[in-house]
Amino acid sequence: MRDFKPLLTASVFLVAMLGFLLLLMWGAMETLKSLPEQFEHPTPASTAITGGNLAALSVPSNLAVRHDGCSPTRGCAVRTNYYDAGSRTIVLQPGEGYAKEVHERLHAHQHMSINGGESVALSDYDLGSWYESSEGQSFMAEVGVPNILWSSDNCPADQNGIEAFACVGQLWYNDPTTLNNICEPCYRWAGKNLP
Ligand SMILES: [Zn+2]
Repeated sequence: MRDFKPLLTASVFLVAMLGFLLLLMWGAMETLKSLPEQFEHPTPASTAITGGNLAALSVPSNLAVRHDGCSPTRGCAVRTNYYDAGSRTIVLQPGEGYAKEVHERLHAHQHMSINGGESVALSDYDLGSWYESSEGQSFMAEVGVPNILWSSDNCPADQNGIEAFACVGQLWYNDPTTLNNICEPCYRWAGKNLP
């Protein structure tokens, strides 16, 4: 009697191989089908525009905010919003909106970057020594004074680096989408350096 055993074994092997090949082809086809969709719809996490957390931005611990246009050291004569480094006070003119307070908070933060909010010399009340801080150096190297139309709240970003920084931060916390649209390097720097 002929021995069918090797033939049987070979058949079983061939069927198994065929099944395996079919499975591979099916897998490849499924992968190909899903590829275009992945390219057309990138995951939202990679492109979502997100801003910062203002509460995490360091400012002098005894920072005061006034809405009456007056500061303890400069009185009420100055008719603008400003950060008074001498008394660590954000001075806002009556009726100013939240965006202006955020802007001045960025100046208060610059004071932190200079010396942790310690006293500064009268000659440095405009926070000019911020340019020497590591934050100031990094900002000026990567962003500088952006030569762009900065219509948001008439922010004086084109004035100097100190103002450019405060304007970038103002949008980073209030309107990151606009920041990304008008100044992509600004948005990128804020994402790396501001909380
Ligand atoms: Zn300013």
